[in-house]
Amino acid sequence: MLDRYNRRINYLRISVTDRCNLRCRYCMPADGIDWIKHSQILSFEEITEVVKEAVALGIGKVRLTGGEPLVRKGIVNLVKMISDVKGVKDLGMTTNGQVLEEYAADLAKAGLNRVNVSLDTLDAARYAHLSRGGNINNVLKGLEAACEAGLLPIKINCVLTPETTETTKLELRAFCDDNNYKLRFIRQMSLEDGSFSQVEGGEGGNCRICNRLRLTATGDIKPCLFGDDGFNIRELGAANAIQMAVGMKPESGEKNNVNQFYNIGG
Ligand code: SF4
Repeated sequence: MLDRYNRRINYLRISVTDRCNLRCRYCMPADGIDWIKHSQILSFEEITEVVKEAVALGIGKVRLTGGEPLVRKGIVNLVKMISDVKGVKDLGMTTNGQVLEEYAADLAKAGLNRVNVSLDTLDAARYAHLSRGGNINNVLKGLEAACEAGLLPIKINCVLTPETTETTKLELRAFCDDNNYKLRFIRQMSLEDGSFSQVEGGEGGNCRICNRLRLTATGDIKPCLFGDDGFNIRELGAANAIQMAVGMKPESGEKNNVNQFYNIGG
């Protein structure tokens, strides 16, 4: 599928929940949020139906996000349902790694290809501070389990905040080089202000070659992360919603006053 700017749209990012087991300072308020009601959250069957229609329209790459996708009950079943869709060539997941050790082997068996893991520092105290209580050892054990399970290549997503030091970046670089992880730096973004930049070590944020759509946990197909537009699959049907989103995809991002990072999955 090509959009109006001749960009090939072949990538769908799916937020499967707004819930998370962390409270990262740049993402979620300390007290959490009013979770989306269960009845509003797409079922696995609805998500799989969207993937089938997306594949029929030329999308072959799918990534599961959140919130934290591994807190969605039955997530391994969803991975199996999506990986069974003929035409899904690349199925990935972005996770904070807190429970990855527990799930890695089953996710790989279910058909997950690879993982991106969020890790902003190697300092345990700093990690606990940034995530409001997260345990960095869980992430490190999760990375080992993902490696053993063959969820490769492993990419590390490090969000750069104004407090991120050069030492932190160098330590992460050395850690990734030693373990053959691909390191990506994501400058802290703001949906409301419309401030974003290209991911260092990745393609995200490069509007000129943008190839992605997003599906929110409540069924909106979003043409752009930094835009208010969304086309709901429950109202329009999956194929229609996807085609309308591609038709309305902007040349570049502006602002998003409708979503938050925890319910659109970045
Ligand atoms: S801001 Fe929108 S158009 Fe630009 S890269 Fe992100 S999703 Fe694509």
